[in-house]
Amino acid sequence: MNIIDKYFRRIDRLRISVTELCNLRCIYCRPESGLELTQHKDILTYEEIVSVVRHTVKLGIRSFRLTGGEPLVRKDIECLLRMLGNVQGVEDMAVTTNGIFLKNYAKVLKESGLFRLNISLDSLDASKFEKITRGGKLQDVLDGIEEIIHLGFKNTKINVVAMKGINDDEFDEFARLTLERDIEVRFIEYMAMNKESLDSEDKFIPTADIIDIIEKNNELVAIYPPRLGSGAAKLYKIKGAMGTLGFVSAVSQPFCNLCNRLRLTSDGKLRSCLLSGGEIDLKIILRNNPTEEALTDAFIRAANLKPSAHSGKGHVVMHQVGG
Ligand code: SAM
Repeated sequence: MNIIDKYFRRIDRLRISVTELCNLRCIYCRPESGLELTQHKDILTYEEIVSVVRHTVKLGIRSFRLTGGEPLVRKDIECLLRMLGNVQGVEDMAVTTNGIFLKNYAKVLKESGLFRLNISLDSLDASKFEKITRGGKLQDVLDGIEEIIHLGFKNTKINVVAMKGINDDEFDEFARLTLERDIEVRFIEYMAMNKESLDSEDKFIPTADIIDIIEKNNELVAIYPPRLGSGAAKLYKIKGAMGTLGFVSAVSQPFCNLCNRLRLTSDGKLRSCLLSGGEIDLKIILRNNPTEEALTDAFIRAANLKPSAHSGKGHVVMHQVGG
């Protein structure tokens, strides 16, 4: 069986937020004061997450990404990855991480069967990185990236949220990381998520401008077809580089028509869209009536809540839905 929503998009990916907790407080993502967190009993257990995945592969959803919050702060995350890796029908399993704990975790992640990683990194300058993340140590992330490359992880992506006046002077340096590394550096347009985040008017830079900045010093060539997990990113390469550049233009050129995913929040809500649309309470079903029919029905209802296009500006914070 496959899930096709009412706009004829086939849903084949699930993004799973495993925790709202994070060891960083990035200025565009979390308020400095911290957050009111969900009680532990209301967070899905690993067994519940695995039972969801076991069911969704029968619905044609075969590609999974763990996110958060910060997935590597959830205790024994490698056990979840191992459990998911044993589910028949899982074709792709990725993690999005801030990389702070990556160096120490890299080996167990490799052994757990994890396919690939996206690492968020918004500055290559240690003091700027510390300011953006409100306390993070750049070297921890750089060491983690080198370690996963060393261990042979493929399709590694570095996610850079592009922010005018904050890291636009580093786009060239970021792009040049791909010259000698087989990684994808992807520039993500800044999305205003809540009132406490940065002022989007001041900080937003569209993909077209990011490309202009990089093209000043580099010759870019477009790539087709996209690589594994590229989704709606536009891909380029600096001529002669080993790696690629990706551009995610959710604001300037929304790609909702290509959106093929649902999102599961850490407290068990099945969300139809990051920025708009409704949600289904899957946890109630998992804890009361987890029949095949009830779960299938929940996924079909969630898919049908997907709007044809998002409303432009979100009213959610990333930690709840999972970026
Ligand atoms: N803790 C993990 C990490 O840092 O990658 C996973 C969660 S984080 C919310 C997932 C992604 O969302 C990161 O790549 C982050 O940069 C991105 N993100 C968060 N807030 C954003 C915003 N306001 N605009 C664009 N991307 C954002």
